Amino acid sequence: MTHIFSLFIGPKSPKIKKPITRTVFISAFIHFCFCLLSFKSQQTNRNVPTQNHHPIQLIPSFTRTHKINKQRVSSITMTMVTRSASRSLLLPRTAPERVAELFDEKLFKQPLPNEDCPICYLRLPIEGVQNTHQSCCGKMLCDGCVRAHSVAAADTERYKCVFCRTEAPSSDEEHIERMKKRVEANDAQAMFNLGTYYILGMNGLRQDHWMTLELYHESAKLGNKNAHFALSLCYQTGRTVEKDTRKETYHLQLGAMGGDVCARYNLGCNEDNAGNMDRAFKHWMISANDGYDVSMKAVQEGYEIGFVTKDDYAKTIRAYYNSIAEMKSDDRDRAAAACLSKAE
Ligand SMILES: [Zn+2]
Ligand SMILES: [Zn+2]
Repeated sequence: MTHIFSLFIGPKSPKIKKPITRTVFISAFIHFCFCLLSFKSQQTNRNVPTQNHHPIQLIPSFTRTHKINKQRVSSITMTMVTRSASRSLLLPRTAPERVAELFDEKLFKQPLPNEDCPICYLRLPIEGVQNTHQSCCGKMLCDGCVRAHSVAAADTERYKCVFCRTEAPSSDEEHIERMKKRVEANDAQAMFNLGTYYILGMNGLRQDHWMTLELYHESAKLGNKNAHFALSLCYQTGRTVEKDTRKETYHLQLGAMGGDVCARYNLGCNEDNAGNMDRAFKHWMISANDGYDVSMKAVQEGYEIGFVTKDDYAKTIRAYYNSIAEMKSDDRDRAAAACLSKAE
């Protein structure tokens, strides 16, 4: 595998701290325990897929909590009015201003929605926990389809990939071997998944943050939005690599532009903390449009305090419910209920 630092896509090579503390991603570990239990129980049941859920489920607990400063609203509204007034004068922009403007145009563009599940042709859920990456063919399938297929199969039959009909791996080793083959085939999602196995030391792998960073960076280099978000968390916490706000923002922006709703929400929180509430709400509206409930809640709060206009709120809530409807199905509901009952 290529040397780790040749894969870094940030402006500088990160300085990795060793030894790395075990407290990295504590919340993720809690999810991991559940995931591991789930995985083990799957292995004892021949009729249930042995592949794990897409590891993005381990990440969303790291999204921040927005805290809107209501007292700041009126002063910021004034700033926005002044800014738009100065724009109307059509003052010539300096080159850096123009570059920033062009970048913002890209940053605040509504990203393309998730692709469809290749089995049911419904938009894949934004919550990674509701999707499963197939280590055989690399397809991302919704859990609704995976579970419906498992339930329909005979008890004696081992799970076969709904897409390519390959039998599920019978052990951790086989699962990891398949995942490594997918990585060699440049499967960005497999890189991200394997990186997450390494950071948590799961599926028989020894915990190795060095490998995680290598895989996350390689995946991000190929444009994987989950990897960008995961890297932003590494630079935010400063526990796996040296803390670096610039690189955190860099990966958040690329993740958000790629359609990661958690990255977009965190960008909004960072803007809110910096006092840029107009930018914060723009981010939250975009991720709410994609069906992200945490962002929708923030937009609703913005509307209640008078920062978000009635028109913007109406548009956002309409887009939010449309997205939810596009991602909903009975099979998916049943899969989510089964997942919940297993956790209890
Ligand atoms: Zn499906
Ligand atoms: Zn397959």
